This record gives sequence, structure tokens and C-alpha cells, in this order.
Amino acid sequence: MALFENKKGRTLRLNPNHASDTTEAPEQKVEVPSHLWTKCPGCKRTLYMKEIGSLRVCPHCGYSFRITARRRLKYTVDTGSFEEWDTDLTTRDPLNFPGYAEKVAQNKEKTGDSEAVLTGRATIDGHPLVIAVMNPNFLMGSLNTIVGEKITRAFERATELHLPVVVFTASGGARMQEGIFSLMQMAKTSAAVKKHSNAGLLYVTVLTDPTTGGVTASFAMEGDIILAEPKALIGFAGRRVIESTIRQKLPDEFQKAEFLQDVGFVDAIVERAKLRDELGNILAIHSKGWN
Ligand SMILES: [Zn+2]
Repeated sequence: MALFENKKGRTLRLNPNHASDTTEAPEQKVEVPSHLWTKCPGCKRTLYMKEIGSLRVCPHCGYSFRITARRRLKYTVDTGSFEEWDTDLTTRDPLNFPGYAEKVAQNKEKTGDSEAVLTGRATIDGHPLVIAVMNPNFLMGSLNTIVGEKITRAFERATELHLPVVVFTASGGARMQEGIFSLMQMAKTSAAVKKHSNAGLLYVTVLTDPTTGGVTASFAMEGDIILAEPKALIGFAGRRVIESTIRQKLPDEFQKAEFLQDVGFVDAIVERAKLRDELGNILAIHSKGWN
């Protein structure tokens, strides 16, 4: 591709087929396959996909990219140990919200999952637990009737089975297409968490990017131990909503996992590569004396 400087000193690229053009040629678009490059939301660098590896972590700033619930499970629980629950629960459209049924169908097709959370029992380093993993790729991991029901049932079964619970949160908040039916899941899940806690059982949350809205305001922040992945966005209302309400600019690190750890909302930030071992250790410490 030919390059030359125009009168203003600006470098222009010319299509080789029109190298004699003297007018400013429009920037020639180079098609870059999106599966080869990505931009890191943490440090804004453009990264070659191979750099972030199978764990999907930025090598420069440690930001942990959003991953599917299935991939998360693969890296977290003992191979072959996951027994999935409640796969037959089907999302309805209680408000007849325009376009909602189609959106759910598209997301089912895209992810191969029936809703935005997977629940079941598994083991980590041989320690049994109940696990729930939210999927940011399914309608932004939003909390609706079925997601709330699956999480509630997971806690209820964990209480019966006397098992600890680990929840990986990733959510844009309550799903607006189900209105109040989504919002009431905050209270319902919280009641199940409380009963599990009253039984003296351990609950660990792992906040991943993003954990926001009604999920933050309910089960995400109710863990006995709250872990987070580096640079994860964690908050209730979005930055723009808060800035326009209080009419002040918020600091850059606001709503980042590191900031929340500084102010005491998060107990520890754990790199993705170390999460499995960390959870195994926590389960080992807290399972002593149970059997
Ligand atoms: Zn980065």
C-alpha cells in the first residue's frame, strides 16, 4: 500500500490501484478477523488472541476476559465430576415483552444452554460442593425467573445435602423483560442463602466481570468469603447513572475489584489460574470436622 504525506503533513494511505490520485483517499479498511485480535477492557491494549491463552487472561494487566459457564466449569471442577441440575426449567415470557421469546431462543442457540446459569454438584480437589456458574454470554447473565429458581434450588439442595456452595457471578443485573418477576428473585435467592447459612454451611462467591445490578444487590454479596477476579467490574448502578445523579466525575478505578477490596467489600482478588487451587484450599479448611 502506498503512503505519502499531504500538504498538512498527514500521512495518507493510497489504494495501489489508484496510486496516482492526489485527493485524500478514504482510509482503506483492512479486514482483520475478529477471532485473531481483541482489545483488553482492562488496559485497552490490542492483543493477539493467542496471547490471552486458553484461560483468557491479559498478560499485561491480568484482566480476566468473560468466559462461558461451560469453560469456567472445565477449569474449576474435577474432570467429569459435574452433575447438572434443573436443565428442564424453561423460560417463559410472563409480560409478553416484545421480542423477548425470540431473544431467549437466539441465546439458547448461541450458547447451547437453556438459561444464564448452570447449577449442579461437583467436586474440587475431591471436596464435594454445590456450584452455580453464571454465563455472561447469555443475555448478559441477567437474573430472571429461571436463573433465580435454579440458584434458589441449588441452595436448598445444598442445605439438605449439607454441602458448601460456590457461585461464580457474572451479570448485567435483573432481566428487564420479566420486570417484577426478575426483581423478586433477589429476595427469593437471599432467603435460600440465609437458610443455608443458618445451617452453618459455607458460601463462597467469586465475582467476575461484570457483576452488577440486582445480582450484586443480592446473592453476589452474601458470601461468607467473597473473591473476585482482577479488574472485574463490580457495582450496582452504572457509572453514567451515578455521575449524572451526583454530578461528579468518578475516579477511574471506581467499581473495579481492586477498589472494592480496598474498601472492604471483597476479601481477596485471585488470578484465574489460581482460582481452582484457592477454592480447593478454602473447601479443605472448612470441611474439617464435618465428616
Ligand atoms: Zn490488559
